[in-house]
Amino acid sequence: MALISLVIPCYNEEEAIPLLYPELVAISEQMNYVEFEFIMVDNCSEDRTLELMRELHEKDSRVRYISFSRNFGKEASMYAGLKASKGDYAAIMDADLQDPPTLLPQMYEAVTKEGYDCAATYRKDRKGEPWFRSVMANVFYAMIGKISSANMKSGARDFRLMRRSMVDAVLSLEENERFSKGIFGWVGFKTKWISFENVERSAGKTKLPFWSAFTYALKGIIAFSTVPLAISSLTGVLCCIAAAVYAIYVIIKQIISAEAVSGYPSLVCLILFIGGVQLLMIGVLGQYMSQIYLEIKNRPKYIIRETDQKVEGKKN
Ligand code: UDP
Ligand code: MG
Repeated sequence: MALISLVIPCYNEEEAIPLLYPELVAISEQMNYVEFEFIMVDNCSEDRTLELMRELHEKDSRVRYISFSRNFGKEASMYAGLKASKGDYAAIMDADLQDPPTLLPQMYEAVTKEGYDCAATYRKDRKGEPWFRSVMANVFYAMIGKISSANMKSGARDFRLMRRSMVDAVLSLEENERFSKGIFGWVGFKTKWISFENVERSAGKTKLPFWSAFTYALKGIIAFSTVPLAISSLTGVLCCIAAAVYAIYVIIKQIISAEAVSGYPSLVCLILFIGGVQLLMIGVLGQYMSQIYLEIKNRPKYIIRETDQKVEGKKN
């Protein structure tokens, strides 16, 4: 029988896990033609998440867990879970039931019977989300679609079922500053897109406040596009042209009219403008440099404190 590994990143999900587990059991009973392993990745939660995972593992050996030494972010959780997965297929799913497990049979059919390598999901709408967040998200997807070769779909979730070959491809991209939505698009493979209505979080609060989502989006742009660098060069060229045209204008004006060139306010404006543009562009450059710096240090993407196989202090 084929094995599906379900990777579930969890951070402070003590309220959501008791609701999630029965759903996992239900779907595994419904899909009795495959085997499951549930890999829960605890991102160093401050609540009882890890204890719940230990309890579930005791009760059900299909539940495996990995617990980090600190919060390394959802991206690291997904990477760690996929790396630990043994299945012929692997799926990523949020702990809060915002990724409906009921879609799994349909997703499994896509990769086994319809010849796809991956079944990915996206939300039809963003109901229940603050309007400003939706607007910013739409702007991001519209922009990244134009400036990057990685195909990213608006509303796409990380919830997707992949064949082993695609999982291995995703894992072979070993960058530290990970942006999975881009990585999935970048590796390619035949993907079936399945849409579903937005579901509200089952319990607890979002772990991804607006500001984190915003910096995550910026990271995505830097990771998958060098267009901002091209824009900064172009702006430099435009400023030079504008300066040259203005210089010619000043010279000609000086020659044909007797009055001296007055222009203190315009000078101030120009200095401010050029200074601002320069700082902005140095900032853009700095963003790319900081990525190089972070990648070159090549630190581990996560550190494991405990797993179902290895408990700290116990001999393995
Ligand atoms: N998550 C995680 N580490 C983090 C933040 C979030 O593993 O640092 C997990 C979280 O437990 C959940 C998933 O990532 O299973 C998505 O987070 P959340 O539902 O809070 O984000 P939203 O759906 O609001 O974008
Ligand atoms: Mg959620």
